[in-house]
Amino acid sequence: MSSVSAISAFRCSRCGREYEALVYRMIDAEAEPSLKERVKDGSLFVRECPSCGCKELILSPVIYRDSHLLLCLSDRPIAVEGLEGVQGRLVSDVGSLIEKVKVFDAGLDDVPLEICKYVTRQELGKRVDLKFLRLEGADHDIIFTYPEGGQMQLLSVGFNVYEDCCAIVGRNPSLTAGLQGLVKIDREWVEQFIA
Ligand SMILES: [Zn+2]
Repeated sequence: MSSVSAISAFRCSRCGREYEALVYRMIDAEAEPSLKERVKDGSLFVRECPSCGCKELILSPVIYRDSHLLLCLSDRPIAVEGLEGVQGRLVSDVGSLIEKVKVFDAGLDDVPLEICKYVTRQELGKRVDLKFLRLEGADHDIIFTYPEGGQMQLLSVGFNVYEDCCAIVGRNPSLTAGLQGLVKIDREWVEQFIA
């Protein structure tokens, strides 16, 4: 597999200028590691108007492929072949796609991490949208971000919490038994088990 992109036409929502931008349909991060960095910093999903500089999100469906990971950004389930030996994930927005890439790139698994986010939300006492940002320091503290008061807040959680969540997954095979093909691992997924 290799990356697939196409030139698409857009209209700037601020000044109305029509312009073209490169849109990826398939991102092969194994063949083109530089694309992975552009996914992680989000720049691959941003188009910029050449007249006024207005930046807007590219919302097209895209498939992201890495060695053992296949992510599909789409608002509806689509058939994807070649899922043997890879973890297939369906995501419905760009932010979730970027998060998944960061999670797996950090050597973490999104199943225990979603449980970890659930536990952290309970402790915070807020129904905020936590996103994994990075591991930090020698103890691999887990850094989450969440929006509050118009700003991005950072939150550090001990790696032992993640390890506890891995143990929960290990003790409950029913959690992962149905995970085949492209699956959606998100807040709704975790809350169907723990609510
Ligand atoms: Zn413009």
